[in-house]
Amino acid sequence: MIRFHNTYTRRKDEFQPLVQGEVRMYTCGPTVYDYAHIGNFRAYVWEDLLRRYLKARGFQVTQVMNITDVDDKTIRGSVLAGVTLDEYTEKYIQAFFEDLDALDVERAEHYPRATRHIPEMVDLIQKLMQQGNAYESKGSIYFRLDSFPPYGRLAGLDREGMIANFRVDSDEYEKSDVRDFVLWKGHREGEPFWETTLGRGRPGWHIECSAMSMRYLGESFDIHTGGSDNIFPHHENEIAQSEAATGKPFVRTWMHCAHLVVNGEKMSKSAGNFFTLRDLLQRGYDPRAIRYLLVSQHYRKPINFTLDGIAWAASNLNRLGDCLRRLDACAGVGENEILTDATRRTRQEFYDSMDDDLNSAAALGFIFELVREINSAADRSEVPERNAVELHRLFTEVSAVFGLRLGAAPALDQELEALVSRREELRRKKQFKEADAIRDQLLGLGIVLEDTPEGVRWKKRT
Ligand code: AMP
Ligand code: ZN
Repeated sequence: MIRFHNTYTRRKDEFQPLVQGEVRMYTCGPTVYDYAHIGNFRAYVWEDLLRRYLKARGFQVTQVMNITDVDDKTIRGSVLAGVTLDEYTEKYIQAFFEDLDALDVERAEHYPRATRHIPEMVDLIQKLMQQGNAYESKGSIYFRLDSFPPYGRLAGLDREGMIANFRVDSDEYEKSDVRDFVLWKGHREGEPFWETTLGRGRPGWHIECSAMSMRYLGESFDIHTGGSDNIFPHHENEIAQSEAATGKPFVRTWMHCAHLVVNGEKMSKSAGNFFTLRDLLQRGYDPRAIRYLLVSQHYRKPINFTLDGIAWAASNLNRLGDCLRRLDACAGVGENEILTDATRRTRQEFYDSMDDDLNSAAALGFIFELVREINSAADRSEVPERNAVELHRLFTEVSAVFGLRLGAAPALDQELEALVSRREELRRKKQFKEADAIRDQLLGLGIVLEDTPEGVRWKKRT
């Protein structure tokens, strides 16, 4: 039995899709005004883990991730750059997919762009107006909060304190600002617009996800995800717009990941405490280690991001890779029954942990216990081929779920040697800052340098 924590019910519920064997899920995607930061990728990589796990458990998954290519930020960027909105966002859409590839994130089935789905949004808004859930004011259209009594359930808001008949025009606002929110923004000078039956203007952010999710997944679907900052107002508003329009439950399971934080504060563009994936790759960090760091923590716990954390992740990956290489070298007939039992038990514990609200940290903990057993058996040459094959199978399953490409070639020793010599040369020239940067880069790859009488040597951190 799979159980997922549902933000809507505030407990772990048994997961049952609407159609047996199929999962339809929607994940809020990037606003393409800049490069995504590593906090954003915590959400996208976790959603990829969810997707991969559902597939491993035999479900056919249809995933939709929107691309927000029109909003205040993209418009501001395109105006500053003096190019059209499409020209401006194209670069960041491309970069986004490159980053997903670098992190081995599987492709969703659909990546709808907001600007390509204006008619669906207009239809939805029109329906809301006809039913009295929306009204026009000075060319913009707003959702009437008091027309939807369940408003506030997802975020646990107290309805008493809500202010109706006041309006909020911006897409992002705080809980203290609960008001009728904007669905359609009337045209303002200098902004791109669409000529529609609602008048000239552009959509608000929230309506985009309601219209595009229902377009690709139907009026009711299984899972909707995002980071916890999406709960309010974005997902609360999505529920209001969708359920008011259709009269049907919109989403069965709402899942949200905790934030990636830096010194206790959410990593974000506005706080200025962010790294893009590109920053980290340029410094020589291995994208597989970054992915490992993101998937190895339970998704509802914050990740405190540090560069040391990447080094820790790299050393864990090395341990797994080393263990697999040892298995490659195992030979001999017969069976180590203790190891056979341990393998069977670990497979069970792995799936049980993942079934329990995707507890990846616990699942990996069991894998590392097994690694210890394998290593000590291998030290005694007690891993016959039959066991090695079975262990390989388990690691292949784990690797597919976590997207870690275990067993893939590690960084070439030659490249490492070259970096070490370069650092030595810099030290001889007393360029210590540059030399230290290389040492940090190597640390990020899980390599520690040791000074010995014969000179500097490197070894993998375990
Ligand atoms: P945005 O581009 O800000 O709409 O964010 C895109 C996705 O990344 C959303 O699902 C956010 O909830 C998520 N997100 C943004 N910042 C973080 C963070 N620091 N940690 C985890 N998820 C985040
Ligand atoms: Zn969304």
